[in-house]
Amino acid sequence: MLDKVVIANRGEIALRILRACKELGIKTVAVHSQVDADLIHARLADETVCIGPNPSKSSYLNIPAIISAAEVTDATAIHPGYGFLAENADFAEQVERSGFTFVGPTADVIRMMGDKVEAIKSMKEAGVPTVPGSDGPLSDDDERTLKLAAKIGYPVIIKAAAGGGGRGMRVVHTEASLLKSKHITQSEAKTAFGDDTVYLEKFLENPRHIEVQVIADGQGNAIHLGDRDCSMQRRHQKVVEEAPAPLVDKDARQAVLESCVNACKKINYRGAGTFEFLYEKGQFFFIEMNTRLQVEHPVSELITGIDIVKQQLLVASGRKLSLKQSDIKFKGHAIECRINAEDPKTFLPSPGKVTLFHAPGGPGIRVDSHLYGGYTIPPHYDSLIGKLIAYGDDRETAIIRAQIALEEMLIEGIRTNIPLQREIMRDTNFQKGGTNIHYLEKKLGH
Ligand code: ADP
Repeated sequence: MLDKVVIANRGEIALRILRACKELGIKTVAVHSQVDADLIHARLADETVCIGPNPSKSSYLNIPAIISAAEVTDATAIHPGYGFLAENADFAEQVERSGFTFVGPTADVIRMMGDKVEAIKSMKEAGVPTVPGSDGPLSDDDERTLKLAAKIGYPVIIKAAAGGGGRGMRVVHTEASLLKSKHITQSEAKTAFGDDTVYLEKFLENPRHIEVQVIADGQGNAIHLGDRDCSMQRRHQKVVEEAPAPLVDKDARQAVLESCVNACKKINYRGAGTFEFLYEKGQFFFIEMNTRLQVEHPVSELITGIDIVKQQLLVASGRKLSLKQSDIKFKGHAIECRINAEDPKTFLPSPGKVTLFHAPGGPGIRVDSHLYGGYTIPPHYDSLIGKLIAYGDDRETAIIRAQIALEEMLIEGIRTNIPLQREIMRDTNFQKGGTNIHYLEKKLGH
């Protein structure tokens, strides 16, 4: 087993990782920026190291500082959490080169999945269903691009191979604007990502976002933990997630789950990962793979009873996956409401001192949050301050429990999106299930 793990992250996910380490008897090192010495996980960790000033660039993205922290504390492994350096192949490589275990896949796999053209190619080869498109980078041959788009049918989307975070893509509705859009996306991609490779896909107009959670050991074994629906989004940011995805074609689901497991085996994937799909008219279309733990992993944990973070740590320690697919039993329904420190109407961040915090409880309620009364939310980082996860035997029960818990949850001193979450849980279309990725923005009048 890993002896001592550096938690290279902050907030709720750092606390989540700390809890898993403690359960496994692993010692922990919290690394934090100056302002973050007050984080609850830093108080609870065996050791703490301040890795730099507040800007992420100087602390949570500061690779030499994080590796030095592992060195001075005699740690054996580094868990990157999500965001920050979690999908940075250079970081994974430097961690391993410095003699530490990276809790995640190999640098090569991270690099491949970071290049969307490469990722789609390898997934297609592995039998994962992909979006009809250019099957590779667009060439400089404009005639070919025009022909391809005509064949696929408008609208199409031009995407940067190196894009991420919803940036570097452009929807094209007519042939007249295709080439101009291609050139603009290329030059934007060059500026933003230093790589002007772009590709083309059919633009799906009203898809849902459905993703598949996998765990693999890099030794030939892989399983899936079912799917999640994360269609409730605003500006490509997920707001509510649930598992299993409601109202999905059974056969299509089974086929896609199996294809993800096969793909993991084929690329010899190691660790936890997520295959993201768009789902429209009963069909799944792969868009990307996230080679890390996701914010929304708890909903899968609640319907399977599997602790994904513990599995990550076990696999990273070199153990073979002890779970077989037949061990995974799906039971009930789970819904996660992301709680953000932001104005529920303007969505502007709302950092500051939390004067009062009361977490809800009761049957089927889980709260993953680093908040406590008197804690000051710094303005430098993401506005996610917690996750409220409700579980029930069925979807309706999970929604009712989420509603009750959202009424109980008290956060004072700052503004939060709790009122928006209450509204979503009361929304009759959400209650029916199966709303698409544009639903929330339309509801908000954006
Ligand atoms: P990123 O890495 O920037 O998150 P993705 O490829 O995951 O990029 O796409 C982000 C979002 O853009 C998707 O969740 C979806 O909302 C939209 N999108 C991407 N590709 C398509 C497509 N082919 N059709 C419709 N929407 C798409």
